[in-house]
Amino acid sequence: MARIFCIANQKGGVGKTTTTVNLAAGLAKVGQRVLMIDLDPQGNATMGSGVDKRQLALSVYDVLLESATIAQALVKSEKCGYDVLGANRELAGAEVELVDEERREKRLKLALAPVLDDYDFVLIDCPPSLSMLTLNGLCCAHGVIVPMQCEYFALEGLTDLVNTIKQVHANLNKDLAIIGLLRVMFDPRITLQQQVSEQLKSHFGDKVFNTVIPRNVRLAEAPSYGLPGVVFDPAAKGSQAFVEFAQEMVERIQTL
Ligand code: ATP
Ligand code: MG
Repeated sequence: MARIFCIANQKGGVGKTTTTVNLAAGLAKVGQRVLMIDLDPQGNATMGSGVDKRQLALSVYDVLLESATIAQALVKSEKCGYDVLGANRELAGAEVELVDEERREKRLKLALAPVLDDYDFVLIDCPPSLSMLTLNGLCCAHGVIVPMQCEYFALEGLTDLVNTIKQVHANLNKDLAIIGLLRVMFDPRITLQQQVSEQLKSHFGDKVFNTVIPRNVRLAEAPSYGLPGVVFDPAAKGSQAFVEFAQEMVERIQTL
């Protein structure tokens, strides 16, 4: 049965989407069956997986509103090696449309149940907010992967996220845990980044993943080709780091 992970951090532009699509591609590369769910109306993870968000007949929006099943709405990304449940601007409306609905935060969880045997991993790219959309992700997940840049304010935002995760754990989803903090866009030449990285390790211990994702321009270029870096340029340092991270995740789920 699939293990479900949210890639979340309410801070914008920290590398959530880059982590989601590259981890998905890395897991596919090491033989895992992966479903990638884009829960962000920006649709970046959709586009970054080679699926045109403007041409989606059905999307995660229809799934949340229960007008389509995941099996009906998913798209197979042949080039990337994983399945995509895409998103586009329409998803921004879901927040409002779900307000009066019952069990609105459990929509994604219910929709996922029938396909869980088809995958080893489900990865959910969350928007930069602690909204109803993110809540839907947290309600169905076994764990949260938090990408972080090793910068001065990195720890500050973490408190809100940790509190939200605690609340969801207490009230809605007792399976939920932070699986780990992933250091991304790392530049070892910057002393401050090394210091923050050390702080993270001393605060959070083995909750910090061993793999570190370096700052690497090939990862930033790949989305304009509609591909994760791992597929666009497998030899790039950043791509190799994500394949290593995929292996670390495969090992880590054995221990959960
Ligand atoms: P949002 O909060 O808007 O959803 P995000 O957290 O999903 O943003 P990304 O879109 O993944 O963040 O990354 C932000 C920017 O940083 C993008 O332009 C991306 O290409 C770039 N980027 C991410 N990771 C790396 C990296 N390791 N090296 C270089 N550039 C990177
Ligand atoms: Mg994003």
